[in-house]
Amino acid sequence: MKKEEPKSLRSIATEWRENAERLATFVQENLVNRDDFYIRYRPQELRHLGKVEVIKKRYGSAELLMHFQASSPDCVIGLPTTSQEQTCRWIVIDVDSDGEDSEESQAVREKAALEFASRLAGYGSTPLLIKSSEYGRFHVWMIFDHRIASKTAFLLGRKIVEDWHSLGLKKPPEVFPKQEQVAEGKLPNSVRLPGLHHTQKFYSEVWDGGKWLTGSDAIHSICSIAPFCSRTVTDRCAGLSLEARPSHVVTKAAKQHGQQVANLLSKLKLVTESCDGWSARCPAHNDNNPSLSIGIAGDKKILAHCFAGCDPRKILEAVGLEMRDLYPPPPSIRSAVLPPRTRIHRQPVVIAADPEFVALQKRFAKSISPEQIEELAHALGVTAASLTELQIGWSREDSCWTFPEYNAAQQVCGILRRFKDGQKRTIKGSRRGLTLPLGWGKPGKTLHILEGQSDVAAAISDGRRAIGRPGTSGGVDDLIQLLDSVKDDLVIVADNDKSGAGLKSAKELSDKITTCLRRVVNVIGPPNSFKDFRSFFNANTRKST
Ligand SMILES: [Zn+2]
Repeated sequence: MKKEEPKSLRSIATEWRENAERLATFVQENLVNRDDFYIRYRPQELRHLGKVEVIKKRYGSAELLMHFQASSPDCVIGLPTTSQEQTCRWIVIDVDSDGEDSEESQAVREKAALEFASRLAGYGSTPLLIKSSEYGRFHVWMIFDHRIASKTAFLLGRKIVEDWHSLGLKKPPEVFPKQEQVAEGKLPNSVRLPGLHHTQKFYSEVWDGGKWLTGSDAIHSICSIAPFCSRTVTDRCAGLSLEARPSHVVTKAAKQHGQQVANLLSKLKLVTESCDGWSARCPAHNDNNPSLSIGIAGDKKILAHCFAGCDPRKILEAVGLEMRDLYPPPPSIRSAVLPPRTRIHRQPVVIAADPEFVALQKRFAKSISPEQIEELAHALGVTAASLTELQIGWSREDSCWTFPEYNAAQQVCGILRRFKDGQKRTIKGSRRGLTLPLGWGKPGKTLHILEGQSDVAAAISDGRRAIGRPGTSGGVDDLIQLLDSVKDDLVIVADNDKSGAGLKSAKELSDKITTCLRRVVNVIGPPNSFKDFRSFFNANTRKST
């Protein structure tokens, strides 16, 4: 963030020290849930005993002054989240470091923290957004004018961060209070007060809507914060019925993974996204910290695992479902279970043909010599005939091979150039479309859908019927339009890239075809050691010759 004439650390430290009394008063008036214990950060040399020490004695202005005047970490303190009456004066969302301090990951965290702050602002006041460490760690404070039930505070906090994963965060933000109620005889968690960091020479900075404020500006911003009206927040949270399903997450799950998992999620409580699925409160035991993890296996079976060890049968029973509700419907009775056919919008999605490219394609196709076809066939390890099927051409001006790409109406919509060094670039103005070899539409054989021209050429060389899509995500709408008229079996051939993106996109395409055309499409990949169909084909032909 842009800072005008950044203050020196020394002057920032002085400003915090000089304002210690004002800050201590602010804390006493606004942030104290209970005053019979607090936490204090241990000095570095004693950290092996634990980062913090719980001090079970009353604290007051002396401890708070010490904190704000602190020049070393062992004066830094934190205050409890919850009172003995199970109430709270504040919620803190802690967007912590995920171990990565790259600028990019800091920016992701900052953006997420801003998003959480703006969601909280929707409840009627301004939250306090604090940068709490040098490396992009953020605390979002929502301070209330009166105490609210810790249960409401907890649920509201969870609700605000429920889709953390979609915001690009690598781990879920911590929400304080961390539980609805503190168990009898236990102490609540504590949150570090703004000010000096407990290990770095860094003082909290405060977001003013456009930039990060430091020193006295930050302090002024903290002390003049307008607390949220506790009654409004409580009313609005009751209206939201936080205990009920979080519709946003469920709707998204339904869209991406189907009704089956959405149905299960809708019956659970405290559902939030996780790295590879969702987490929720386990309905089979008295679950304070959501310990149920839900995911989707490769075979589309729904996985439900309770970390407290509940039997999956019991978990499902508790929400009125059965084990078979975890399994995808068998494809053999597909007509009975496939979703209703989605209407295809015929006109709008088709990429328009371009007369200019039609003319260009004709010219390029005329210009190519048999030697030039042979040269590329040799380089790719495919047959010259397969390239002729693809209507390969030659561009004299660019000295490269050309491949036409087609829209759903089988008209040329763009041209891909392939240079001698293997680089590929479209001609300016091209729209990416499908690779449709001559005679691809001849019925009677399984139609293979591959990625890119050279894979299609390899498949044709292998005696298969094949078409291609441009890359992992392009051409989907055109493809679905085109396939509407194909009655033969369809197979999507996925690339084997390390990241799994090829397989993932192939599965997404398969799902889309299933939804739109009401057909089951198999996804296959070349064996693991081959990155795509062509390398698989090349290896096999070399072996046999
Ligand atoms: Zn359980």
